[in-house]
Amino acid sequence: MEKKRLIIAIDGPSGAGKSTVGRALAKRLGYLYMDTGAMYRAVSLKAEEKGIEPWDEPALSRLVSSIHIAFVARDEETRILCNGEDITEAIRSPEISRLASDISKSRVVRKALVGMQKEMGKKKGVILDGRDIGTVVFPDADVKFYLDADPEERGRRRYRELFEKGMEVDFKKTLQEVIERDRNDMNRSLSPLKRAHDAVLIDSTNRSVEEVVEEMYRVVVEKRRWSEVDYR
Ligand code: C5P
Repeated sequence: MEKKRLIIAIDGPSGAGKSTVGRALAKRLGYLYMDTGAMYRAVSLKAEEKGIEPWDEPALSRLVSSIHIAFVARDEETRILCNGEDITEAIRSPEISRLASDISKSRVVRKALVGMQKEMGKKKGVILDGRDIGTVVFPDADVKFYLDADPEERGRRRYRELFEKGMEVDFKKTLQEVIERDRNDMNRSLSPLKRAHDAVLIDSTNRSVEEVVEEMYRVVVEKRRWSEVDYR
């Protein structure tokens, strides 16, 4: 019997490991992985290029209706294209992280991106990571995870990630930015980051990627088994 294909939501603060474990879990399940944060980053990059301020709703509205974001698989990795331009690396800078957290407060931006995410998720067999996936985008997702870790550890991971990309970074500053961004994401009025009541909480502090993925995989398999039971 063909296995039921699910929609899996992973939410949590920055640096909790969502994209690393999300990618690994998607590979193991043969699912599509979608990094919704990359979409907010893409809009932010374009807003910055055009000099649009995060509070300028009319300009942001024109911007989101003029851009097309696509995830394409290339050489074992997923590249992010915006109107055909590869922006995979350009959206990872600390400036764009900061700006994305401000631009994601915009009603028009959220409306447009949530619409795209719902459309992409329709295919099923998909894992989406973000801040509002289990609460707003797919409140009926088959499996929801809330991935968390100590702020210090999340700061260290973000620092390592930027350092490995060859960027000049300072640990204290990186940690400060991670904490500030989370505060921003948790306290905004629209779709703030919070754990959905039915999300499985996983703390990735001091745990390897393999351990976390294994735990998530077991939750998914269990859930799939139950969802395939025919009660008629
Ligand atoms: O996940 P990532 O750190 O790349 O996300 C960048 C920013 O985009 C977050 O700080 C958050 O403000 C915003 N975001 C969001 N909703 C999502 C995903 C990301 O508001 N579903």
